[in-house]
Amino acid sequence: MLTKTIAATLEGVEGTLVTVEVDIRRGMPTFTIVGLADTTIKEACSRMKPAVLNSGFDFPDERVTVNLVPAGKPKEGTHFDLPIAVGMITPELGFSIPEDTAFLGELSLDGKLNRIKGALPLVMCLRKQGIKKVILPIGNAEETAILKDVDIMPAEDLDQVIRHVAGSSRLPVYKGKKISVSYDGDLDFSQVAGQETVKRAVVIGVAGNHGLLLMGGPGCGKTMIARRIPTIMPEPTYDEMLETTGVYSVSGLLSEAQPFIDKRPFRSPHHTISSSGLLGGGVRPRPGEISLAHRGVLFLDEMGEFDGGVLDAMRQPMEEGLVRITRNNREVTFPAQVMVVAAANPCKCGHLWDDRKICTCSRKQLDDYARKLNGPFSDRIDMHIKMFPVDKDVVADDIYRRNSMSSAEMRRQVTDAVDIQRERYADTKYRSNGDLDEKGIAIYCRLDKNCSKLLSLAYDRLGLSMRACSRSIKVARTIADLAGETKIREEHLTEALMYRVSDGGQQARQA
Ligand SMILES: [Zn+2]
Repeated sequence: MLTKTIAATLEGVEGTLVTVEVDIRRGMPTFTIVGLADTTIKEACSRMKPAVLNSGFDFPDERVTVNLVPAGKPKEGTHFDLPIAVGMITPELGFSIPEDTAFLGELSLDGKLNRIKGALPLVMCLRKQGIKKVILPIGNAEETAILKDVDIMPAEDLDQVIRHVAGSSRLPVYKGKKISVSYDGDLDFSQVAGQETVKRAVVIGVAGNHGLLLMGGPGCGKTMIARRIPTIMPEPTYDEMLETTGVYSVSGLLSEAQPFIDKRPFRSPHHTISSSGLLGGGVRPRPGEISLAHRGVLFLDEMGEFDGGVLDAMRQPMEEGLVRITRNNREVTFPAQVMVVAAANPCKCGHLWDDRKICTCSRKQLDDYARKLNGPFSDRIDMHIKMFPVDKDVVADDIYRRNSMSSAEMRRQVTDAVDIQRERYADTKYRSNGDLDEKGIAIYCRLDKNCSKLLSLAYDRLGLSMRACSRSIKVARTIADLAGETKIREEHLTEALMYRVSDGGQQARQA
């Protein structure tokens, strides 16, 4: 007797429809799974018998063969337990399996359905293949119910699923649950008093999707600024929330308390992180911090302490907006469109720019540190922002606090500039000014005579590299967009060049 049940498998966050074939025939009682199943699926063999028996059904005392189609595609995940069990039990009971319904779920030995990893991307794959009904564990109901055009039918145990298939009782249907964007209410830029120039730079960075390097001594508020950046990013769209939630779903980071990601993520990995921790990896590839920050902020505090090789490995994902991991000649990808925000002390002791404290670094330490900070990674960060400690009086002063720009005001400015870019780049491969390559710069960032003169002056006097000049032009484009102007003017470029000055300074000192 042969049955077919619909399921799916994931590679990264990309799903493939899988047909679970169960063949039961006379012979020595055996239970075999074939079709490039990994160990998580093969373990179903030992879970299956107690789960079926404890649910009150008969376990076939015959030769059971499970084949996962397409056979050439590697498959993983404990969620194949349910389709296998359904395929095995229903023919004995004399019912047929509905062809329009997919089954996903891991079984406990007592027959209960356990929450699975990757439910959202699995269901999204099934939906794409035209499947309109999915039965899955109740623990994954909230996460998948945000989808609009597929019936989510959550079940608590195997018995409920079989009763539904038999028609003796119906599972509830979840669908199109509304999600609203949330902002962390405790964090607001109005709490950051006396750093208005830095906040201006942050608005530019977020508006044009430019990476930021915040440079300043301890206590000048680098982390305080970084943590508030998600509060001024445009509201994530429904599709963006699905993407981000998908990454957390396959990582197993969702819970009943947090069934989906309704805000821009902020991730702050420690500087001791490995490249697989940052970029993703493992035998069964899992997303790294850069993908968990997808559509949000990746904050690299104490950038100078990160391993140079780890930072270099971020080059490709930063350029492509996705991570590629190769395993057994197959490529797995994870999304990684992030705004990179790095922070660093100006020197090893941290007091180089502080008038009230003395820098204790030796000449050699200063040079070594500068070399470390000016590696290929920081060269790829569009804006370098110098920060100074704020006077205690300023922080305490009511006038400063009252005039401190709020997150809502900053977000309004950002959103207007983002809209302009969306329109400008509508039919191109670019999404923002930060994305522009040399070709894009030539098309969208024309400089007039005065601006060109200013730029070549900066190139000579500040010792900026060609790459740094290109980055300044892109930032100038964003500053013009924030001002609502179509042409880049001298004042825009002048401001943009301020955010590269640290480069020239460091290089001048080295010379
Ligand atoms: Zn120092």
